[in-house]
Parts: sequence; structure tokens; C-alpha cells
Amino acid sequence: MIEEGSKRGKAMVEKRQLFMEMRAQNFDVIRLSTYRTACKLRFVQKRCNLHLVDVWNMIEAFRDNGLNTLDHNAEINVSRLETILSSIYYQLNKRLPTTHQINVEQSIGLLLNFIVATYDSESHGKLTVFSMKAMLATMCGGKIVDKLRYIFSQISDSSGIMVFAKFDQFLREVLKLPTAVFEGPSFGYTEHSVRTCFPQQKIMLNTFLDVLMADPPPQCLVWLPLMHRLANVENVFHPVECSYCRSESMMGFRYRCQQCHGYQLCQSCFWRGHANGPHSNQHQMKEHSSWKSPAKKLSHAISKSLGCVPIGEQPHPVFPEQAERPQELTHTVVLESPSRLDEEHRLIARYAARLAAEAGNSTQQCPPTDLSFNFDANKQQRQLIAELENKNREILQEIQRLRLEHEQASQPTPEKAQQNPTLLTELRLLRHRKDELERRMSALQESRRELMVQLEGLMRLLKDEEQKQTSQSGGSPHSSPSHGAGCSMPMPIRSTSAGSTPTHTPQDCLEGVGGDVLEAFAQGVPRNLRNDLLVAADSITNTMSSLVKELHSVDDGGEDDETNMRNGGDRGRSTGTMRVPKH
Ligand SMILES: [Zn+2]
Ligand SMILES: [Zn+2]
Repeated sequence: MIEEGSKRGKAMVEKRQLFMEMRAQNFDVIRLSTYRTACKLRFVQKRCNLHLVDVWNMIEAFRDNGLNTLDHNAEINVSRLETILSSIYYQLNKRLPTTHQINVEQSIGLLLNFIVATYDSESHGKLTVFSMKAMLATMCGGKIVDKLRYIFSQISDSSGIMVFAKFDQFLREVLKLPTAVFEGPSFGYTEHSVRTCFPQQKIMLNTFLDVLMADPPPQCLVWLPLMHRLANVENVFHPVECSYCRSESMMGFRYRCQQCHGYQLCQSCFWRGHANGPHSNQHQMKEHSSWKSPAKKLSHAISKSLGCVPIGEQPHPVFPEQAERPQELTHTVVLESPSRLDEEHRLIARYAARLAAEAGNSTQQCPPTDLSFNFDANKQQRQLIAELENKNREILQEIQRLRLEHEQASQPTPEKAQQNPTLLTELRLLRHRKDELERRMSALQESRRELMVQLEGLMRLLKDEEQKQTSQSGGSPHSSPSHGAGCSMPMPIRSTSAGSTPTHTPQDCLEGVGGDVLEAFAQGVPRNLRNDLLVAADSITNTMSSLVKELHSVDDGGEDDETNMRNGGDRGRSTGTMRVPKH
């Protein structure tokens, strides 16, 4: 059945379809080869739905298909490759909720054609096990550090030392990717590639990771970390106007000129080298991967206390970049919110919708003459606050539980198990469990953010009510202008339509939450209801804080364990700013 389905899919997909679609994206107008290459490969990755397959799932798939028993230089034919791809995508659909199923046949067709075009350009109908592993492990989803670890395991000897010839082979294979998307001139393989990456003689895992995740990374692989960073900022919304194309807002990276006051470019304009007015594209630009609302000082302070501040947004040379967050949760698997959370969300959404409807009616058509409306609304808001507080408590308990489970799950390490084949089955289960936990953490974090946003909306409504009351009862001096300002507060819109899987990293956990919530923190003489809201907001913030800490400790814990096992020493995380030299 799988065979039949994929054959149908293969027939459905034109051989050059992926490349034609890529050409239609017009990536070639991007002047910077690194960005151009990363954009093209990110496009291929998403079009083939590989971004939904975590690297750990990929490794499982290799094992399930018996590839780990084959020599790297063994050749497999295209129909076997097709079977492997089928199993990858059918397994993926099993993990996805029914509402987010992918088109398996089409994905197989597109990816198969891409792999064949990339690795079998002379149409032998065969490719090596190693080239397939290198390609899939590079192009799948997941953390870059996990990918690099896996690759190291494939190119090192039994004493954990990198075999140069194997790394050379890896470069040869992986650099076929930029070549396949017509970026060979910038990132093609040469026999000097290896030595430019590693002038040293003896390379262990830590050096390998340090070098490949350094700032800047080796020139030939500079597109790889960038592809991950692109994925991380894809859904970041900046409610500011681009100084060149005048679009009202931006998604992705935002670039701010260090010389021209208030000059900002969207990524599309910056990558294309656009400049106007007194600004020149030779000016130093700072790359931002997050947006801070006008109340940014306070927001920044809160973020800082939550450990959410991105590492160093320092000025860079001409085409700058910013640190990769090693804590990124790029498990871009669609999250299945547990039904309990769903229920609560629905409840909150219902309250919010009712409030919004009532407030909308009263503002737009008839001025509220009925004071009981306000009391009703206040009562509902109090109920809502109680709901939020309950939810906070539940999530805190959940975090506690997850933490315990994670501690148990992270005891054995992959290295250990590889030496002890009897542990493999157990390890597999544990890895699944770890992935599941991380996804759950991510889901929780997303819920927290949504709560904050909803709270902000409520507070804005509340403020509007207050102002209306004030203006009715005594003609406040600032009735209409400030009311208008309240309404124009940019709403944090995280595109859920652009991709079904927003990837929220800890640094943007407060993204877009600002405005009234933060303003309220700063106000001195709150009314009773505002007090309640503040307490709720505060408690949410605390929960966020512990959540962020948990997330970090989960990451730190897991990784350090593995590293220590292997090297018997502790190794600092590679948190240097990632920078791409200009071309
Ligand atoms: Zn623009
Ligand atoms: Zn400028």
C-alpha cells in the first residue's frame, strides 16, 4: 500500500517541479549569497515537509530501515530510497494531529526528485548510504547541535576522534546541497574545504561543535546555521514600517541603520541591498530577530528577569547577524495541546469574545448609559482572572511533574548505549520520551504567551471602559486623543496562517506582550479590579519565569550530561554570536 501510494505520488510530481517553484520565489534577487543559499534550502526543506521531521526521528528512521548496519559506501537504489522516504513521512503523519496531516505522496515525490537531482546527477539510479544520511540529517528539522553530533558520530572512529577522510567525504556530500540550488560558485566543494575548517590535527566532538557553531562558522558551511536562524525568526512580527518599501510591518529579521536615525529595513529590502534617502547600503546595520513594544524598557526589564533577553545585539560590520539561541526548541512538529488546555483556551476565548463584543457595541454605536453593564463586565473579568490563576497553578504542577520525568529520562546517554547494544531499545524509548517532553514544554510556553496576550486585550478593554466612564461623568481633559492611542496599540499577531507550526524560542516568550499589561505594572494608583489583574499578570509572569528556567535547565541538563560522559569535563555552551561575513 505504501509502495502504491508513493508510486502514485512520484507520478503526480513533475521531475523539475520543486526547482520551478523555487525559481518562482525569485530568491536570486537576494544579493548576499549566504542568505540566498539559506533561503533556497529552507524553501526546499519546507516544501518537502522535512522541517517537520526532527533529526532524532530521522535517526530512528535510518535504524528502522536497517541503514546502520550498512557500510557508508554501500549503494542503495532509488526504489529503496523511496521506501525509506515513505516510512519517514508515514511515521511523521502518525505524529501529527489529524488536522495537520501532510500530503505524503507529494512530499515523497518532491524530495525524491530533489535527492536524485542532487546526488545522482548522472542517473545511475543509485546513491551511497552516506550521502543519503548526510543529506537527510542536514535538511531535516531539529537543533543544529543535535545534527552536528549525529554527523560527528558518523565520521569519527571508536575513540571519538574525527577521521579527516570521512569529514572530507561529508563535506563533499553536504556541499552538493548548495550546488543543487545553483550556489555552487559560493559554496561548492574544494579539496581545501577540510583544512579551512580544521587546520588542527586531532578533532574531538567539542572542537568539532565549537568550530562548526563558531562565529563565524567555516565559510563553506556558513549557510547551515543561517538556515536554522531563518527558521527561528520566520514568525517574528515587527509592527514597524520599512523605510524603503513602506510596508507597515515586517516578518522575520529587521535591520536598523546605526547611522540614520529611525531608518529600518525589512529583510526583503535589506537582502536586496535597497537603500533610499540619505541612507546607503554601506552603512552599518544591526540585525534584530525580535521586536520590543514601545513600552520596551519595562518589557526588557521583565524579559531580562526571565532570562529571555537575546544575547548581544551589538553593532556588526556591514551584514550583521545575531546570536543563535542554543536553547531553541525547533521541534517544529505540530503541537498537540492536551484537551484540558484546549478547554481552558476555549473558555478564555469565550470570555474574551463576549467582552470584546460588548465593549465593541458600546464604543461604536450607543454610549453605555447602563452602568450595570460595567458591573457585569467586571464580574466576568474577575471570573476570568480566577480562571487564569487556576490555570497557572495547574501548569506549575505540570512543570514540576515534567521536570521529575525528565530527570529520569535523561539518565542514560546515547554514547553509553551505543557501547552497550542491550540498552538500545530502552534508549529509543527514552529519546521519544525526551522529545515528547520538549514538545510539551514548548506547548506550555505557547499557552503562557497566549494567556498574556489575552490578558493584554482584556486590560485594554478595561482601560477603555474607565476612560468612557471618566469622560461621561466629568469630561476628562484627555478623553478622545488618549482613547485613540489606546486603540492603535499594535496587537501582537503571530502568524499562524503563514505556517502551522510557529517556533517560539524562549527569547520571544514575551514577544508582543507589552502595552497595557506592562503599563499597568508601572502605574502607581490602581483600582481594585486593576489590582486583581496585576496579581494575575504577576503570577503569570512568575510562571513564565519558572517555565523559562525549566526549559533552560532541560536543555542544559540533557546536553551537559552527554558532553560530560564523553569527555569527562564540562564544556561551555557555544553561545557566541553567529556572524556571516559579507560577500
Ligand atoms: Zn522593505
Ligand atoms: Zn543609514
